Amino acid sequence: MLAGWNQCSPLVTSSCADHLSVLDLLIGMLSITRRSPFCCRSHLFTVLHVALEVAVYAEYTWEVFPYCWELEFHLLLLLLPYLLLAGNIGCFVLCSRADPGIITKSNHASLMKIYAYDGALFQKGVRCPTCDMEKPARSKHCRFCNVCVHRFDHHCVWVNNCIGAFNARYFFFYLFTLTVTAATIAIITAAFLIQVVLLTNMLHGSYIDDQGQEQAVEIRFLIQHLFLTFPRIVFMLGFVILLTLLLGAYCCFNLYLALTNQTSNEWHKSRRSGCSHHPTLQPCDRQVVYKNIYSKGAWMNLKEIFKPPTVLEKEKKT
Ligand SMILES: [Zn+2]
Ligand SMILES: [Zn+2]
Repeated sequence: MLAGWNQCSPLVTSSCADHLSVLDLLIGMLSITRRSPFCCRSHLFTVLHVALEVAVYAEYTWEVFPYCWELEFHLLLLLLPYLLLAGNIGCFVLCSRADPGIITKSNHASLMKIYAYDGALFQKGVRCPTCDMEKPARSKHCRFCNVCVHRFDHHCVWVNNCIGAFNARYFFFYLFTLTVTAATIAIITAAFLIQVVLLTNMLHGSYIDDQGQEQAVEIRFLIQHLFLTFPRIVFMLGFVILLTLLLGAYCCFNLYLALTNQTSNEWHKSRRSGCSHHPTLQPCDRQVVYKNIYSKGAWMNLKEIFKPPTVLEKEKKT
């Protein structure tokens, strides 16, 4: 069933560019090309992901936690990042190990009945040359995993798996717990540093500058002083704040996609073709105008993420 799971696709071309998530765009920041050795499934980013998490938690455990404990922070608040970590690891394992909706010879016929072809992004009769079968609507061949995936969203290098119909809910929870974890650590760490500033009455102090003049403490001096006193803590705080902002934005984007019943792949494709969801407002110069036919209202769309439709349900309705 999983034949070719770990092999490179022979059809890797620039035209088969998969949609990259914001997280995946970090690859670009690291100046890593999308060609070999990153054309196959690889544990590289999973290891990087784990290493970053270990580094943040090591710093939190060995410095932030004991300092906060001394300052009499509530124990439950200090333990919250560990509880969130447990939840995040659970979602991560589910997301990376679950079948995203790999299309095989045995489930192909039933998956063909789930979604209708919209005639714009998904045309009837298009075959996947690698898997040698007709592509069901909303599916896509993943060049990393070398399989076609039902309701393909994107390939996430951080969980080293495709995100499709059957693991989208785990990915959603994974993203959410990761964002909340980063935000919680950022809040606790910031609260600790603010407490230090208040207890030492630093804001009302003064310092002697290079010219020997006495100066009142301002924000720039305060940040420099905190960085020199707690370098690792301030560095970690900067990192988790950045992470919270990036993940928060990506979480919101995913929520928007879920509420409008679009996958990242469809959103990307519809934008790339220059078409609008409101063809009357923004006519497209191409012959085919994209209209999202899969949306059934915000609540039902959200439900679909957590309970993907099956053929049985589909047949019951008709
Ligand atoms: Zn395929
Ligand atoms: Zn994949």
